[in-house]
Amino acid sequence: MELQETLEEGYVEILDHLRKRSLWMLQYCTACGAMEIPPTITSRFDAERFGIAPFVTSRQSDILLVTGYVNIKTLRRLITVYEQMLPPKYVIGFGSCTINGGIYWDSYAIVKRLDLYLPVDVYIAGCMPTPMAVLEGFRTLMKLIDEGKANGWKKYQENYEYYKENQRKVLKW
Ligand code: SF4
Repeated sequence: MELQETLEEGYVEILDHLRKRSLWMLQYCTACGAMEIPPTITSRFDAERFGIAPFVTSRQSDILLVTGYVNIKTLRRLITVYEQMLPPKYVIGFGSCTINGGIYWDSYAIVKRLDLYLPVDVYIAGCMPTPMAVLEGFRTLMKLIDEGKANGWKKYQENYEYYKENQRKVLKW
């Protein structure tokens, strides 16, 4: 049994090591921060050299990139998209609005903390974050994956009722 566990752990470590260099990213462009995505993924900053490439469907994507403020109507779609993605999957909160509401901190329509509703693995602060900050966020996620610490998707499964309760409160489901 011990040998099997050791082999399984080793297998997961190898997969994580490989996975971090091959990540497909769904950009959910909720807000103004999305303006910094084109320079980040095209030749000037070239995120693809790290193995991170944009993708168009939720079921094949590894990263959900939430680029800015999330309003209550958007949150509903965002949750659906996240739940369509297959594990392991990672969420990046892009811009200060995803951390604390940013300049919309007192808006009735904006969700203030994304991590109350979805398991955020990495936040990228800034209004809006520069492409270099975005790349640093990507590299942080890659490091977490390599170390087996990007476990937001497991947290979501284990604390499903907690997240659903938070979602219900704001969406009035
Ligand atoms: S953090 Fe700034 S750039 Fe990003 S969505 Fe909020 S207001 Fe827009």
